[in-house]
Amino acid sequence: MAMITTADTIVAIATPPGEGGVGIVRLSGPAALAVGRAIVRPADAAAVWRSHQLLYGHVVDPASGRRVDEVLAVYMAAPRTYTAEDVFEAHCHGGPIPLQGVVELALRHGARPAARGEFTLRAFLNGRLDLAQAEAVLDVVRARTPTALHVAVEQLAGGLSRRLRPVADDLMGVLAFLEASIDFVEEGIPAQAIGGLLPRLDRAMEGLEALLATAKGGVILREGLRAVLAGAPNVGKSSLLNRLLRVERAIVTPVAGTTRDTVEELANIRDLPVYLVDTAGLTETDDPVERLGVARSRAAIEGAGLLLLVADRARPLENGDRAAFAAARALAPQTPAILVLNKADLPRALDEDAAPPLFGDNAPAAVVSCSAATGLGLDALEDAIARVALGGAPLAPDTAMVDNARHRRALEEAVENLVATRNGLAAGAPLDLVCSDLRAAVVALGAITGQDVTEDLLTRIFGDFCIGK
Ligand code: GDP
Repeated sequence: MAMITTADTIVAIATPPGEGGVGIVRLSGPAALAVGRAIVRPADAAAVWRSHQLLYGHVVDPASGRRVDEVLAVYMAAPRTYTAEDVFEAHCHGGPIPLQGVVELALRHGARPAARGEFTLRAFLNGRLDLAQAEAVLDVVRARTPTALHVAVEQLAGGLSRRLRPVADDLMGVLAFLEASIDFVEEGIPAQAIGGLLPRLDRAMEGLEALLATAKGGVILREGLRAVLAGAPNVGKSSLLNRLLRVERAIVTPVAGTTRDTVEELANIRDLPVYLVDTAGLTETDDPVERLGVARSRAAIEGAGLLLLVADRARPLENGDRAAFAAARALAPQTPAILVLNKADLPRALDEDAAPPLFGDNAPAAVVSCSAATGLGLDALEDAIARVALGGAPLAPDTAMVDNARHRRALEEAVENLVATRNGLAAGAPLDLVCSDLRAAVVALGAITGQDVTEDLLTRIFGDFCIGK
């Protein structure tokens, strides 16, 4: 996407690589029908290409007369299409060679290869989707749990944009009033007018703060939470990981120190996509293989969103437990943690309240007894994981949620600038300064829906998509 244009016609395979029931080659742009007509020969020679109607036929190389594939093809006239442009699709047999053959023919007849995300970019540029909606397309494709999908589909339908628009419109009204006042007022604007503006700024801030409150859960839903298991060897970390995944993944053996590498798997915990990471030891060692494991474990703990500190409840705490917990806490002092007392199926040697003092001021947010062997207490552990991860924030997939780090940053920027606007206005700061703060807030909101975006940002956002989307 060196230069963004919608003047030409793009082509790409829209289905994933590999073998499938069908594979779709998609064309979009002014010449979509012309290219499609040139390479697809309907079985019924008298058939005409009517918009949104499938025709059966063959893709034929006009130069050689050779059939490339047997297809169902459809022409869809603008604007009732994904891109809001003319679109032509050939539904081929799902194999790489027929699909590439069709793409090559299209290229020879005037199309050019689509860049990553270029179909969705065109839907945005043509005004069919705003930027937040276009980004939601990727969230729908990549949703990791049904709830994450629900939030993404709502956003695709414009949920977030609908919440933002009235706020942005009202702020724009305030800004217009203040800008008009700059030229006319020598000594600042009358106190009465300011009195009318402050509640409007407060209302806008409240609305944005309410949206920001959904961001914690939203971002976890979209990006997943990294929960790292740490603790002394043999306390049952791998067994817990397997329990939470409900599949056998890490190798569990009764020999201490078998988990040499980090293992990472995706689990669905109370609708949250949680990446569970098992760690090898955290303590220094001479064995070079183990040392690699230690380095990876440390990196995993530093990047954790949640720590699961595991102890064996069937024996008293040992120096190994203390060392492992201290090492984990030193690497991630701010990360929320849950103390998991495992092997609760065996006779108890450790009390729930005996362990937390170990952590001094940095007590874990929850203590849960459970058994990886029998599943006892696993429900409570899953509840605790979801509760601590969300930090009390609601997971409210039925209202618009902020599930995107870019949107969250923009909202935070808007709120910061609104605070500055409000304070400036209340303190009688020069009006042009107040206006520049308010303008920055409006611009930050506009960046979410795409009213104010640079080509750079678009390239970055759509560069995350795959080719053909
Ligand atoms: P890790 O080194 O911390 O990953 O521990 P493992 O998951 O490899 O478990 C060490 C040993 O403890 C294995 O023999 C497991 O079968 C056993 N174990 C793990 N969890 C439990 C549990 O909840 N109850 C009992 N009785 N044994 C367990």
